[in-house]
Amino acid sequence: MQILEQLKILAKSLELCEDTACAEKLLKQCADIDCAGSGEFRELAEAMVNLKLQNLSLKEKMRKSVEFHDAMKNIAKIIETQYDLSYIIPIIGEIIDKIISNHLIYIFLKENGRMKLEWPSACNDTRITALLAELSSKPHSIFTENKKIGIFPLVNENRILGCIVAKSMEDGISNEETGYIEQLAAQASITINRANVYAEILKHATLDALTGFYNRRQLEERLKQEISSAKRQKTSLCAIMVDIDYFKQVNDTYGHAAGDLVLKTVSKIMRSQLREYDIAARYGGEEFAILLPFTQEDEAAMVAERLRKSVENAVIDLTKADENSKVKNIRVTISLGVNKFDGNGGNLLKNADKALYEAKESGRNTVKMYKYT
Ligand code: GH3
Ligand code: MG
Ligand code: MG
Repeated sequence: MQILEQLKILAKSLELCEDTACAEKLLKQCADIDCAGSGEFRELAEAMVNLKLQNLSLKEKMRKSVEFHDAMKNIAKIIETQYDLSYIIPIIGEIIDKIISNHLIYIFLKENGRMKLEWPSACNDTRITALLAELSSKPHSIFTENKKIGIFPLVNENRILGCIVAKSMEDGISNEETGYIEQLAAQASITINRANVYAEILKHATLDALTGFYNRRQLEERLKQEISSAKRQKTSLCAIMVDIDYFKQVNDTYGHAAGDLVLKTVSKIMRSQLREYDIAARYGGEEFAILLPFTQEDEAAMVAERLRKSVENAVIDLTKADENSKVKNIRVTISLGVNKFDGNGGNLLKNADKALYEAKESGRNTVKMYKYT
């Protein structure tokens, strides 16, 4: 066959090529073609294939660049709606993982001075752990010698918040990839820092510092919402008021730090017995209010009894508050009053409190239901 015809066939095949592997395969095939003036044909064929390879590489670069800028925008956008890191980090992880697809990506966050893996769920590479230790003093990227592992810190004002780790499965991490990951890490740092600040502000405005329960003000807000939702949707709503029995004695006998530990422990036990959407608030010193949406009176009575039992059965280790405490283990009990929403709302907590008072009167460590007359 003539050179021109062979070149036409090659041009057609190249047109259909979508990736470099396909173009390279065609180049190999050209070497085996035997036609008049083969040498010249091969030279021209090589030039054509190389041009195609350059085109493909440019196209790939452009695709990557578009993808990268989309990723940066997406990471920046998350903060508009989210401040919960356990929600944000997997999203950031998945975005980066998609861009840097030929390496494994991990995200660590610093917690109590230590790097804790946040995404994905496991990392068993001990070399990574060793490199992480080096990072603590260096707010810039570090690599293993062969560039198979790179650690990219997440930094805010010279403070390390965590890091992104890239682990290469084949070749090392290229300079281009390093550039990408460093920019993604910078964007992720801004997002994570803003989420932290926002969550902190929100926490102080709504939560009680000692117990982590809603504070009284936030309870009033939630109470209004739950009452209007119960009215609108005609669903059942109950309230429980809880008070620790003889709490003053705990303070007087073992000190305030022990009292605080009891408050913390009791609230933690109660939280563990409630559903996620139940609302628990610190109402006053050692008094708690709990709202149970979508709950009938008999179910609320069962919840209250479960709370009472689990507090009664718990042993509180006072050496956690004071290591020199002469007494190690103590127990406390709670009294509870339960009331069902009657359609008005104004007396929901007040009547639960009346039932609580009855529980105290009848000897404490018990549950009483408010009775409508
Ligand atoms: P009762 O079972 O009848 O309710 O008796 P009580 O001793 O639990 O109730 P009382 O109202 O007499 O005492 C409550 C005590 O709670 C008094 C107060 O000093 C203490 N208290 C209130 N807030 C805190 C706190 O944040 N930390 C500590 N340690 N104690 C607190
Ligand atoms: Mg009390
Ligand atoms: Mg009290």
